[in-house]
Amino acid sequence: MDKNTRFKIESRLAQIGSIEEPVTGAINFPIYQATAFRHPQLGKSTGFDYARTQNPTRKVLEEAAAELESGDAGFACSSGMAALQIVFTLFGQGDHLIVSLDLYGGTYRLLERILSKFGVSATYVDTNNLDELEQSRRPNTKAVFIETPTNPLMMITDIEAVSNWAQRHNLLTIVDNTLLTPFFQRPLELGADIVVHSATKYLGGHNDVLAGLIVTKGTELSAEIAFLHNSIGAVLGPTDSYQLMRGMKTLALRMERHESNATAIAKFLLTHSAVAEVFYPALPDHPGYEIQNKQSSGNTGIFSFKVKDARYVEPLLRHIRLIAFAESLGGVESLMTYPAVQTHADIPEEIRQAVGVDDRLLRFSVGIEHVDDLIADLGGALDAAVEEIEGGAKHE
Ligand SMILES: *Cc1c(COP(=O)(O)O)cnc(C)c1O
Repeated sequence: MDKNTRFKIESRLAQIGSIEEPVTGAINFPIYQATAFRHPQLGKSTGFDYARTQNPTRKVLEEAAAELESGDAGFACSSGMAALQIVFTLFGQGDHLIVSLDLYGGTYRLLERILSKFGVSATYVDTNNLDELEQSRRPNTKAVFIETPTNPLMMITDIEAVSNWAQRHNLLTIVDNTLLTPFFQRPLELGADIVVHSATKYLGGHNDVLAGLIVTKGTELSAEIAFLHNSIGAVLGPTDSYQLMRGMKTLALRMERHESNATAIAKFLLTHSAVAEVFYPALPDHPGYEIQNKQSSGNTGIFSFKVKDARYVEPLLRHIRLIAFAESLGGVESLMTYPAVQTHADIPEEIRQAVGVDDRLLRFSVGIEHVDDLIADLGGALDAAVEEIEGGAKHE
């Protein structure tokens, strides 16, 4: 949408849908709760026929998504998993994919338990290692699928390097950009072909709408995804499309606060005696720090940390008050997750151990509450956990 490109991203986010409504001038684009559209005459259409194919409210969201990610077409789906399923349906019998090793558990499950039934196989590698990529490439390899940063271990992949390598071998590069959003990172500008989002997370931002987005580059690929999106039918309804746009209007403000809160809390944890390690690419000693700075304009609001003793986990989760023990991320409310038993339970033990998702690892999705309250809540819970576990021993 050229009309908006002269404005900075904060302005474009705040104004999603606000100049699109030609009839009344409504500032918020309305919810068209309609599935069927009257045709003016035989052979003529308003551009809308049936809502699985297109709905006016969804269309405004899809155009905004495409424009924010610097793509050619956007597709709103009923969840992040629906978006991933649609993208993976580009592939079929005998096709092979190269996939990030430290992967969202649901994506791993989709590939291993469902796509595998349709003859699509995957090899999981450290996608930042071009030698590993090269070794895992087969004659039937069709695409590289990247998460960067990964969740929960925050591994960073150089999107430009991988896209260049993929292009040389005629492979598609697909990036799950859920954790950074187009506010901080735009993979299509770095050479990727497809971006996927769980818009349930930062884009929606309020833990109240389940949605997925796909953004594509190029006419042919966009037409292929449009065909799959309509044929599979896992599209986003008009009310959820509205809800998601409403969330996206404040994305810039929220991401800035998520980042500053998460940075302050990660630094606090580094100084706490019960904490063994903090995994956050905003910290200069993180192995992905330089690549992250090169390809992104900021950091996500989630990070992971390892406590020194797995026995601290249970009392820690019991003592947090402001921070909720729950398994999502990207919302205004702070949530703490225990990946080994929650989000990553579907990933086999040996893969989890190999990447380091063990029983001492906690993931923290830092919300937009006041940072002092968050530090007090987490610090207090850590102290209480240590006291419960070690206190008895000391007094003996
Ligand atoms: C949550 C998530 C998904 C799945 O999205 P849903 O909206 O829950 O279906 C995919 N990828 C990542 C990185 C996620 O965090």
